[in-house]
Order: sequence, then structure tokens, then C-alpha cells
Amino acid sequence: MTNLKDLETRDKSNWCPGCGNFGIQTAIKQAIVNLSLDPANVVISTGIGCGSKINQWIETYGFAGLHGRSLPVAMGVKLANHNLTVIDVGGDGDGYGIGMGHFIHNMRRNFDMTYLVENNQVYGLTLGQTSPTSDKGMKGPSTPFGIIEDPINPIRLALSSDCTFVARGFAGDIPHLTGLIEQGISHKGFALIDIFQPCVTFNKINTYAYFRQKVYKLEEAGHDATNLGEAFARAGESEKLPIGIFYKVEKPTYESSDVGLKDGVPRAQVDISEIDVSEVEESFM
Ligand code: SF4
Repeated sequence: MTNLKDLETRDKSNWCPGCGNFGIQTAIKQAIVNLSLDPANVVISTGIGCGSKINQWIETYGFAGLHGRSLPVAMGVKLANHNLTVIDVGGDGDGYGIGMGHFIHNMRRNFDMTYLVENNQVYGLTLGQTSPTSDKGMKGPSTPFGIIEDPINPIRLALSSDCTFVARGFAGDIPHLTGLIEQGISHKGFALIDIFQPCVTFNKINTYAYFRQKVYKLEEAGHDATNLGEAFARAGESEKLPIGIFYKVEKPTYESSDVGLKDGVPRAQVDISEIDVSEVEESFM
């Protein structure tokens, strides 16, 4: 039985005190414990960013990839071994900026993995430039007069890209976020959980107090998570910000549909003891 202590690493995180990533880290650990997952069978893939360092501080397997390229690594892990629990974690700049193409194609392929986006609406690691989800007008080092573009709406993007599990959490509500991560991991298919993650150092607008005053829970508002139209409408709300599961549907996963993969992981399909490698060996002599 896994407990929280098993998931502690020797080194401690170096995030700014109060960073929303602490809440996300706690929720991931708690979800692993609640689902009784063996840490040896969990892989956390990340890109580049403050929050992408998270797999250094959770005692599972992990891979720190390039900026925006965590999803191809996660996909490769899943293809090589379908039995692993694959969790991908990255920021909004990582996933909704440079990694956007991977994000959309992983959703339409429906790999069985969980993608957590630490959405703090800035590039925190590089000192607070505006990101694809920054509110219009937000000022930062790269936009001293305010950003003139409208932000990406990741929930609507996921809904229109046929994502089979679309949810949003808040790093300041750890029990609720833990529940979402548990449901995302349990979902057979690609689960997106966009997470409001206050960056206490560089984002002085989207703070804990801001979100506490704005968020409401979809499950308490009678939302029907099987209704795509209702999900799309809720995802467009801005006066109040819904958290919870917007939409969920069952569809075959990529790995269960591919003719070369559906009978199991590739390495289990080949009995290497029956392969004659003597000719290859001799060629190296
Ligand atoms: Fe967290 Fe922002 Fe500090 Fe990065 S800069 S560790 S996102 S508070």
C-alpha cells in the first residue's frame, strides 16, 4: 500500500513560497495514494517551466523533456508499455504555446494518459512574460503596454478537438483537484485537467483571492458532463469561472485500436529467445 511518505524525494522543491505548484504536487501525490497506484508503475513526463520540475519532487519514474515536447515522450511511454500510468505535467506556455500541435494531436488520438496543465497565465521560469492564456491587457516584461491578443480558451479547444475528458481545477482547492486527478487517471483515454495555478511572484492579477471569489463547482451547479453543448457554453463563462468536469465520453483509445498494439505491449508480443541473432553477433566480431 502506497502512502504519502513513499512519494517524498530526498530533495525539496525550490518553488517560490506560496506557489500554486505546491497544491498541484500535493494533489498528484494524494491521487496516487487514493488510487493505490504502485509508484514503480507511474511515469510523470514534463517539459520546461517552473511546474515542469514537479517530477523531480515526486518519487515515481519521470522524464524531463524539452520545452513543449513532454506529450510526445508521454505518448512514447504509453506505446512502449500500456500498463503504466502516464501523467504529463506542464505549464500553459509549454502546452498551449510551443507544444500546441502535440496537445491537439494527442487529444484526437485518445491515448490513455492524464495531462495536467499548470495554468498560471505567465511564463514564470523566464520572469513573467505574458503567455497564451494571459488576460487581454495584462502587462508583463514583454508587453509593457498590455497584451493586445485574446487568450486561448483551453477548455473550448479541448472540447472541439474531441478530448474525451475535459476538466478544470484550482490549485487552492486541493481536495477537489485530487478528486479530478483521480477521475482523470481512471478515465480510459486522454484526460485534460487545466488547473488555475497562482504564480505569486509574477501574476498579481490571477491570485488565490481572485480565484476564490470567482470559481464555482460544476457538479454543484447541476452541470451535465455528457452534454457537449452545455460544456461549450460553460467553458465560455468569465464572470464566474467553473471548475470540475466539463465533458466526459467513452471512446476507444489509440493503443486499443492500433492493429500492432491491441494485443499488448510490443515487447510482450515478441519472444526474443526464439530469434537467431548469431549472424548479427558475428558481423560485430
Ligand atoms: Fe511558482 Fe511563479 Fe515562483 Fe515559478 S515564478 S515558482 S510559477 S510562483
